Amino acid sequence: MSLKTDLTSADLSQLRQSALGAADPLGIAAELAEAVDSGGLADPDDAGYALTLAAEIAESRTKLDAALRYADRAVDAYQKRDDTQAASAHALRARILFRSGRADDAMAELEPLRPLLTRYPDAAAYVTAALAVGGRNRVAEQWLTEAVQATLAERDQPEPADAEDAGQLFFLLQQRHRLRHLIGLPHDTHDNLAERLETRLANSAAPAAGGSADDLLFWPQAEFDRLLAKWPALTESYDRNFDDHRARLERELVRLAGTGRVGLAVFPGSVDGLTGDATDAKVRADYARRLETGTTKISWPPERNAACWCGSGIKYKKCCLPRSRG
Ligand SMILES: [Zn+2]
Ligand SMILES: [Zn+2]
Repeated sequence: MSLKTDLTSADLSQLRQSALGAADPLGIAAELAEAVDSGGLADPDDAGYALTLAAEIAESRTKLDAALRYADRAVDAYQKRDDTQAASAHALRARILFRSGRADDAMAELEPLRPLLTRYPDAAAYVTAALAVGGRNRVAEQWLTEAVQATLAERDQPEPADAEDAGQLFFLLQQRHRLRHLIGLPHDTHDNLAERLETRLANSAAPAAGGSADDLLFWPQAEFDRLLAKWPALTESYDRNFDDHRARLERELVRLAGTGRVGLAVFPGSVDGLTGDATDAKVRADYARRLETGTTKISWPPERNAACWCGSGIKYKKCCLPRSRG
């Protein structure tokens, strides 16, 4: 296959989403690098982005040598650029170095990013993911704590009214909150703030807007049918039917993968396990968080030819994989 010429930023974003399930992802990675070399990008400033994408694709197929070559070139392409994309490219390079057994080099790549996390919370997701791959969740927790404290110190009023008011602080708080649950740390004042903001967002956000705290709560088909039978109003405020439900989850997983999150999974819920009114977003969010700390999860993504995560019994490539593009 051959990519079209004059690739725009939007084309690249689209490729990022579809490459994961493509028949020949490494071919796509090579074509992306080729597009950079042969002037195939509509905007030459996208070179770093295209190469970052190529590195991620090669990494996802554990072709680490190729992934590192693309990541080296991505970092070069960003050169002295000081922005969230450049920082993310450095963090991606570190993640590949960790996977390659070069922990010292990986840490040398990450250390300069440490003071930048307050400015680039999106890049903080990449940094956290890299440190997780390197078995350094505690270090990530420490860096995120520093960034949260520095950001809070710069604010006039200590408590933001809502997620929008908190701005970038919200993303840092969320990442830190999730990580601390993952490594079994108890709530502290920052976690309490994170949870208040998450709850307010979940209660105010329209379901289609995404980003609410119950995003990875998955109702298998039989449970989804029971759920709607018990709370018919959910078709208005949540997901209209099972197809919408699994398509929304698939899109959210693709989005999270794009931010550098690794170890993604959905958490299957049951009507019997849920306590409270399912039409209350906070009830669902609390249930989702309880499930996330348990042991039952369905890892994502499956291999293309493996059974789909949604339980349909159909191959992933013919089931939910194409749903993410709907
Ligand atoms: Zn919590
Ligand atoms: Zn499926």
